[in-house]
Amino acid sequence: MSMQEKFSAWLVPVVLCTLCGPALAADGQAETIFTNGRIHTLNPEQPEAEALAIRAGVIIAVGDTDTITATAGPQTQRIDLGGKVVLPGFHDMHVHPLFAGVRQTECKIEQGSTLEQIQHEVQACIDRTDTGGWITGGQWDAHAIGQIPDRSMLDTISPKNPVLLSDTSGHSAWANSKALAIAGVTADTPDPEGGIIERDSGGEPTGILREAAIMLVRMHVPPHSYEALRAALEWSMNQMLSHGITSFTEASTGFVAGMTREVKLYADMADAGMVKQRVRLCLNWEPGNAELEAVIADRNLYARTNVATDCIKIFLDGVPTDSHTAAMLDPYARPMEGRSDDASRYGMLLVDQDVLNEAVTRFDRMGLTVKFHAAGDAAVRAGLNAFDAARTANGFSGQLHDVGHCTFVSREDLPRARALGVTFEVSPYLWSPSPINDDISKEVGDERTRRVWPVREMIEAGALVVPGSDWAVVPSVNPWIAVEALVTREEPGGSAKHFGKEQAVSLDQAIRLFTVNAAKHLGMADKVGRIEPGLLADLIVLDRDPYSIPVTELHQVRVEQTIINGTPVYQAK
Ligand SMILES: [Zn+2]
Repeated sequence: MSMQEKFSAWLVPVVLCTLCGPALAADGQAETIFTNGRIHTLNPEQPEAEALAIRAGVIIAVGDTDTITATAGPQTQRIDLGGKVVLPGFHDMHVHPLFAGVRQTECKIEQGSTLEQIQHEVQACIDRTDTGGWITGGQWDAHAIGQIPDRSMLDTISPKNPVLLSDTSGHSAWANSKALAIAGVTADTPDPEGGIIERDSGGEPTGILREAAIMLVRMHVPPHSYEALRAALEWSMNQMLSHGITSFTEASTGFVAGMTREVKLYADMADAGMVKQRVRLCLNWEPGNAELEAVIADRNLYARTNVATDCIKIFLDGVPTDSHTAAMLDPYARPMEGRSDDASRYGMLLVDQDVLNEAVTRFDRMGLTVKFHAAGDAAVRAGLNAFDAARTANGFSGQLHDVGHCTFVSREDLPRARALGVTFEVSPYLWSPSPINDDISKEVGDERTRRVWPVREMIEAGALVVPGSDWAVVPSVNPWIAVEALVTREEPGGSAKHFGKEQAVSLDQAIRLFTVNAAKHLGMADKVGRIEPGLLADLIVLDRDPYSIPVTELHQVRVEQTIINGTPVYQAK
């Protein structure tokens, strides 16, 4: 090798490094140090620290300011936190980012709107749309409207434009007559498998569609363009970064734009460097779905370093609202108007237990993780039964499957999560001030509602518990609203009204759900979830210390900076 060749070989990496980011510090030295902060590490061996050092995206030291400053060299970037608080990055284990982003572009109706407000909003949307163009959006709630709405209430304002509006839960939709006509839904249309077309006394569709019946109409809505989907997802991921969410699980891949398009979208955006968070995609399952099977077969072609495609989402039931679609062990407290069938009294399990056991056992054997939607206690039990069947057939696979939502869980089923090595995922963002809760209390009754989302009992039973926002079912993806709800079970800021008060947990437990527990659930406890040497530098800097403010102010905590792998990905203005 000539002198010149030796020189070039040495020069090239140095030049590349200067171009691509902060200069690499000399061996052993930190690239970045944060000092003079209040760092809550969630590491029981060293719970508090003032400073930390990062090298190549990894936390290399945690300690007091003097010790950490000593690890710095001439090229080290030094950041004085000025007393600010640092926590590990937060995980959202159940979120619908594409849905949330697309919703921004649709007809937006504020949660809890009255019928008059909804009609006013829809009229404004019609005014902005061509005659005959689709009006889609949401959200409506039977409780806020004062009754279960019907198509005539939309027909009066929209005789020409088809309208399809989701309720807050996303498990029911409200169509006008034009939309039903385009979809060919008439008195003669049978209820689809796993869905209900609500009908009046004459057998005519009322316009209310439950669960799988929604697709009968939705499939006629023109698809979103690729550019629109990309913009929607980019917006949502940025929203999550601004709230300190460094890792999330897309809980319903395929719901908005079809599964192949959605996994491809994530892969493309990851290739373009637009996916900053650690992402897991849960693919919507239904028996015999050829598109799902094709995506499963190709899953590792779509997977990227930070996009996992190893999760299957299975809907076991609906929601315990006026729709009575959550599957309950005991009957609902109120009968449904005009109906007395078993489904209206107990809700409905969307999948037969045998079919479910077989599917879950197969996915478990393949190394895939299963996430259930299970709101009613009968659905939670069916989900646990399926995990039991998989463990019996396959032994412990190492995958931590989860039962999602867990709005109602029978006391008998609580110890099963730990025994089976599966996780309970809960939805604290939904607790307040969501109008869904008034519906739930009314339909399920006060007695069972006292134990709603039994987080305290779950933890006492030794279960691994993780949180999910279910955004855009809830209006904000801000986890601090959920942290406060976990601790107070009241509305943000405190209220006389409460929801499942006996199930409140401590602030430390609440924060652990979002960090330590979520990392364990993802099999990443050796990489993220705490702040300690050797772990990846996924960090959030906060504007105040959650541990030293009144719990009723937790919802006001703001994220000032979000850091993933040591790189700032969000900075508050
Ligand atoms: Zn969801």
